[in-house]
Amino acid sequence: MHELSIMKNILEIVLDHGQQAGAEKISRINLNVGAFTDIVPRWAQGYFDMIAKDTIAEKAEIHIDTLPAVIKCRSCGSEAQVDIAHLHMECGSCQSKQVELISGRELRIESIEFE
Ligand SMILES: [Zn+2]
Repeated sequence: MHELSIMKNILEIVLDHGQQAGAEKISRINLNVGAFTDIVPRWAQGYFDMIAKDTIAEKAEIHIDTLPAVIKCRSCGSEAQVDIAHLHMECGSCQSKQVELISGRELRIESIEFE
């Protein structure tokens, strides 16, 4: 159910921006979501439709761009994209396991389209 609280947050921000910009209708919301952020796009849209009812964001389309997960090696500093389906938390250059996830948990509103 965490999509619901996330979408509530997003709705608040979007309505805020819409109001400031004098929007009559919000048509599309573009989100950047890290590969490790556990969001199911279909659910995100479903929850959004539910909570945005009777607001200017009603029927806005949620578009989600997934950002790749990137690890950085603490030993040699090299960075690499990782496939979360075959996740090896190991440096590809020096095989060190001292790696950290530097990208992949983002959740941000990239842009809002309104009329
Ligand atoms: Zn390394």
